Amino acid sequence: MSGNYGKVYLVGSGPGDPELLTLKARRLIDTAEVIIYDQLPGKVILSSMPDSAEKIDAGKFAGKHTLTQNKINEAIVQKAKEGKMVVRLKGGDPYVFGRGGEEAEALVQEGIEFEIVPGITSAIAVPAYAGIPVTHRESTSMVTFITGHEDPTKEESGLNWDALAKFEGTIVILMGVKMLRRNAEELMKNGKDSETPVALIERGTRPDQRVTVGTLASIADLAEERGVKAPAITVVGDVVRLHDILGEQLTGTDF
Ligand code: SAH
Repeated sequence: MSGNYGKVYLVGSGPGDPELLTLKARRLIDTAEVIIYDQLPGKVILSSMPDSAEKIDAGKFAGKHTLTQNKINEAIVQKAKEGKMVVRLKGGDPYVFGRGGEEAEALVQEGIEFEIVPGITSAIAVPAYAGIPVTHRESTSMVTFITGHEDPTKEESGLNWDALAKFEGTIVILMGVKMLRRNAEELMKNGKDSETPVALIERGTRPDQRVTVGTLASIADLAEERGVKAPAITVVGDVVRLHDILGEQLTGTDF
């Protein structure tokens, strides 16, 4: 009987600065009976989870990607069936490359009530803290978000590099560290100017945020030299030049 089931909240935590949590996210975290989280929300937000909640690290289901996701879905479903109020806490926004859609589908299938609590996505906020507006009237009026992480053994890329190279707007790449060199090469091979500015922003909105700026031609070598690590956002396009003018927001907001 679904009447005895608990409710699930798929909650976005924003990009890491705890002051970028929504009021709704804060309230739900504080009142949850079960919180199923991964590491992306970051230490500060994760350490603010209340003692009263049962906390389940979704990372402990680590393994093959799809299997892992199935196990996470099962854990969410099981806790809801026990009648618990469950918060599934995810970095950024739950529906932006967060597999939140898959989790929501699993809940629909099981007849479990749920709500989405959108979060501030890293795709926009992380460039913003690095002084990069993703659109700007003088440089671009379009923006696209892509995943840079694709299985390197896949023969055909799921991304249309030809269309992306022709795209005149800002390209924001999530999960793009591992495949950075290949992705930059794909864009150049398909005709994008090798001098197009590129920024890599690691751990955006967090106290140890670091920004690396280069061009499509230079960014992969720079990233290697500087030991760039995930999580990082890659921004490709003219708006990256604004970083020099708008600077970098200090992220030491007392956290
Ligand atoms: N749902 C999330 C994205 C999940 S995919 C969102 O809306 O933000 C995971 C990717 O998000 C990482 O590989 C990285 O590209 C990006 N990301 C999330 N938080 C970040 C942060 N604080 N700094 C840099 N990149 C971040």
